[in-house]
Amino acid sequence: MRMALRSAVETLPKLVLLHGRPDILSFRPYLHVMVPQHRIALTRMLVSDHPLAVERLRWAKRYRPPVPWHERLCRLCRDALDDSPHTMLECSAAADPVALRDVFWGKVGAEWARLRSAAHDPAHALALLMARPSLHGLVAKLAYDALEVYARVPI
Ligand SMILES: [Zn+2]
Repeated sequence: MRMALRSAVETLPKLVLLHGRPDILSFRPYLHVMVPQHRIALTRMLVSDHPLAVERLRWAKRYRPPVPWHERLCRLCRDALDDSPHTMLECSAAADPVALRDVFWGKVGAEWARLRSAAHDPAHALALLMARPSLHGLVAKLAYDALEVYARVPI
């Protein structure tokens, strides 16, 4: 059972942010985030169950076929996939996401420079942040705020 679940998680592109977890069934510290809306937003970002284009355009709608994965671009910049790492940690096409990140990195404090320089892409940066349980509350708030910003702009 555990091996089958691990195999499923490791092979589903939708669950890329869960790849490499040492024990797939263990309780995750981010589930201790105190604000329910923030905890839910972070969980949705991690399991790719969110309203971002990378998921919403996966499915056909009336008069529209599914959009190929590489064409599910950010609704703000059109330069990258509209996915969790991009919307939370990379997109700089509008003032709101940039301001959210400035506040976020300011609260992360002195550790931010080391984290940012160690990360080779936004998904890796998110993985590095999630490896630090002391930051989970801040990351969860960033996830919540990012989803709020992107919800205001149609795909
Ligand atoms: Zn963008």
